[in-house]
Amino acid sequence: MNLSGQTIVAATRNEHKIREIDQITRQFGMKIVSRDEAGIPAVEIVEDGTTFEENSYKKAYEIMKLCGQITIADDSGIEADALGGAPGIYSARYAAMSDDLREDLIPGEDSDDEANNAKLIRLLTPFPYEERTGRFVSVITMVFPDGSHITARGTVEGHILLEERGSGGFGYDPMFVPDGYDQTFGQLPAELKNRISHRANALEQLKQKLETLK
Ligand code: IMP
Repeated sequence: MNLSGQTIVAATRNEHKIREIDQITRQFGMKIVSRDEAGIPAVEIVEDGTTFEENSYKKAYEIMKLCGQITIADDSGIEADALGGAPGIYSARYAAMSDDLREDLIPGEDSDDEANNAKLIRLLTPFPYEERTGRFVSVITMVFPDGSHITARGTVEGHILLEERGSGGFGYDPMFVPDGYDQTFGQLPAELKNRISHRANALEQLKQKLETLK
């Protein structure tokens, strides 16, 4: 399936994610528009799935129902191996949850990046650098107006620091050093992040899956 020149609605309201998805998919010829640009009312989508896949599909499907156009969603997060994969799907609201992730202390609320990063640093402090391995995960779902969908998962492996370095990117970027580099995603140029990131990997796989469709 060739989506070159096709307008695709981004289900996310996270401007950083929209910018990255746009910069990556532009190379495939796709044109990403935001929910606001597509005139979609400000609805809140409850991310109550238990996997990145469930949440990603839910976001894309709900927005597709509202606009009737091809919709793309990203559900993503960071997994720290020393913490059993936490915060994972709870990355956006990590600071609003109990340390064991069993309880939502401030239900429904996403937390700010600073609070989330501070919490990850606090919980990882007992672990030496070698044990602070982890990855960013991005699951991208594209839903079509007939309800069919394609899903792709991308990851990028690396180490998590106990401090923030650099002011680029967003979220956990200043704490994450991708394997093969000695700077964080907050320090590395955006073009580089957009070549090697979890989101870039997921979108490349999505492109390959689209190419196998008629
Ligand atoms: P979502 O909107 O539920 O998918 O939230 C994803 C959360 O994971 C974001 O709020 C960030 O905290 C984190 N995250 C996802 N992708 C990235 C990234 O590329 N850099 C830094 N943090 C990210």
